[in-house]
Amino acid sequence: MVNRGKLYIVATPIGNLQDMTLRAIHVLKSVDLILAEDTRHCARLLEHYQISTKTWALHNFNESAHVDKILSRLMLGESFALISDAGTPLISDPGWLLVSMARKMGLEVIAIPGPCALIAALSIVGLPTQKFQFFGFPPAKSAARQKVLKEIVHYTGTSIFYESPHRIIEMLTDCSDILGQERIYGLAKELTKIFETVRTGSCAELLAWLKEKPEHVKGEFVVFVGPSELSSDTELLSAQALLRMMLPYMPLKVAVKIVAEHCHVNKNSVYDFALSVSSESL
Ligand code: SAM
Repeated sequence: MVNRGKLYIVATPIGNLQDMTLRAIHVLKSVDLILAEDTRHCARLLEHYQISTKTWALHNFNESAHVDKILSRLMLGESFALISDAGTPLISDPGWLLVSMARKMGLEVIAIPGPCALIAALSIVGLPTQKFQFFGFPPAKSAARQKVLKEIVHYTGTSIFYESPHRIIEMLTDCSDILGQERIYGLAKELTKIFETVRTGSCAELLAWLKEKPEHVKGEFVVFVGPSELSSDTELLSAQALLRMMLPYMPLKVAVKIVAEHCHVNKNSVYDFALSVSSESL
């Protein structure tokens, strides 16, 4: 009986070529064929790591036509690696049909984890991470996009989107219209590249920053919409920590005002906490 082949799902860098794992290099060198979203695009990466394995294009427009052929070759014992242009395949990238069919046929599908823009951005943006939802790219048309945004009005975790430079201003304008100014937003762009930038603030602040200079709009974005509740546990905790640091240096009322505004939390809860801290030190 022929041993079945394996399908490896290999994450590749999202900007910095050095973010390639040793295991990813090893797998890409040892498989029979690399299925790549764009064979010309991946040539630079493969050349950099002296990977001479043959490549074959698998993208959104040919995936359904080629899945059968790929599955039969896997069944006959060949092993393949799937890569996308950047980051983790299937995350707003092709490959879902292939993976789901391979698993249905009992083939072994193995993850070779590595870079993923949404996870990298979430790990540094400073918004709550205990609960989050990811939407991929929002619809291009405003009406459809607004419909998606309405779904997150009452969501109490962080919502994450991918967005292109062409639509980032329209996207934030819709956020402002549908979700209001009362929550914290985040932008992470050009991660792992020279101009890596992460900003948080109100929607109006981020829009003003984007419009300030043409280069602010350039690049690839991860967009964060903070939780619906202003005083979510995480924000309150960071407000409390900040308050503890400030109280020894200024009047209680001044510290409360600054912290409530800066952390976008309810002023009364900050005030109550400040009173309890002051009474501790009596
Ligand atoms: N599969 C990829 C991943 O794991 O992140 C995502 C591919 S999706 C087609 C491309 C989008 O991911 C970009 O438009 C941008 O929203 C986000 N992205 C990719 N690289 C990024 C980077 N270096 N910095 C910020 N966002 C990035």
